[in-house]
Amino acid sequence: MVILSLKRATTLGFVVLTVAVLGAAAACSGSSTSRGRLKVVATTIQVGALTREVAGPDADVKTLIGPGIDPHDFEAGASDLRAIGDATIVFRNGLGLDDWLDRIISSGGGKAKTVTVTDGIQLRTIGGHPDPHVWQDPVNDKVMVQNIATALAKADPAHAADYNANARKYEAKLDSVDTQVREIIDTIPPANRKMVTDHDAFGYFIQRYGLTYIGAVIPSTSTQAESSAKDIAALEDLIRREHVKAIFSEETANPKVSNQIARDTGAKVVDTLYGDSLGKPGSGADTVDGMILDNARTIAEALK
Ligand SMILES: [Zn+2]
Repeated sequence: MVILSLKRATTLGFVVLTVAVLGAAAACSGSSTSRGRLKVVATTIQVGALTREVAGPDADVKTLIGPGIDPHDFEAGASDLRAIGDATIVFRNGLGLDDWLDRIISSGGGKAKTVTVTDGIQLRTIGGHPDPHVWQDPVNDKVMVQNIATALAKADPAHAADYNANARKYEAKLDSVDTQVREIIDTIPPANRKMVTDHDAFGYFIQRYGLTYIGAVIPSTSTQAESSAKDIAALEDLIRREHVKAIFSEETANPKVSNQIARDTGAKVVDTLYGDSLGKPGSGADTVDGMILDNARTIAEALK
C-alpha cells in the first residue's frame, strides 16, 4: 500500500546521503539561526498539527509526512534529512510509527533534540505492541500538547508564556470536541455502534466513546500486515451475525478488499474516515480537532 514512493536507497546509500545532507545543513546553519526563530520538525501530520497550535507564530514548524500519506510505510527523502539537520527540535510520535528517524539521527546526528510527544499517554497494546494511533482520543492529544509546550518553552524561553497560553487554549478546544463527539455518538442507536475499519487504527476512539470493535479488514495496527482469505471469511461472518451497517475504509487505504466484503455482506463502505492522516488544507479536517469531529459525524451518519 505505497502511497508515496520515495527513492528506496540501500542502507549504505542512505547513510552516505544522510551524512552529506546533514553536513550541508550544518554548513548553512549560521544563516538560519541568525533569524532567531526556533526551527521545529514534526514527523507525523498529527504531531505537526498539534505543534502548530502550540507554536503559533513564534516558531517555524515543518511536518515531514503530509496529508494523504500512509505513515506506516513512509521513507524519508533528501528534503526531510535537510529539515532534520537544520532543526533545533524534532517532535516524533514514537510507538513504532517513525522508527526511521532513529537511523537518521544515529547515522549523522544533526543537533536537534528529539522529543517523543506521546510520553505519558496511557497506551493500549495489541499483541504486545503499543497502538500508535493515540491522536484519535482528545485526552491523549492534550498530553501531547502539554509535552510540546514544555519542550518549546525550554528551547525558546523568550516565548514560553505564549507557548503555554496557546497550549491552554487548544486544550480547552479539545475538551469542547470531546463533549461534542459524545453528543454526536449519542445519536447512533446503541445496537448499531459497531465498528469495522480498514486497519486497527481507531482503538482509542472506540474505547473513549463506548463503541464496539468488531474487526478490521487488515487485522493489525499497521497497514503493512495482510489478511488471509480465512481472516476475511471470519470477518464477513461477524459482520453478518452482528448486523454491522458499515465498513470504514480510510482516506489513505486501498478499498479493494473492503468493497469485496461489502458486496458479500450487504454492509456499505464509507471511505472518508481519517485514520492515519488529516484532511488537506482548507478541508476542515486539517487540524486534529477538526479531524476528530469530522470522523464522529461520518461514523454517526453511517451507523444511524
Ligand atoms: Zn495506522
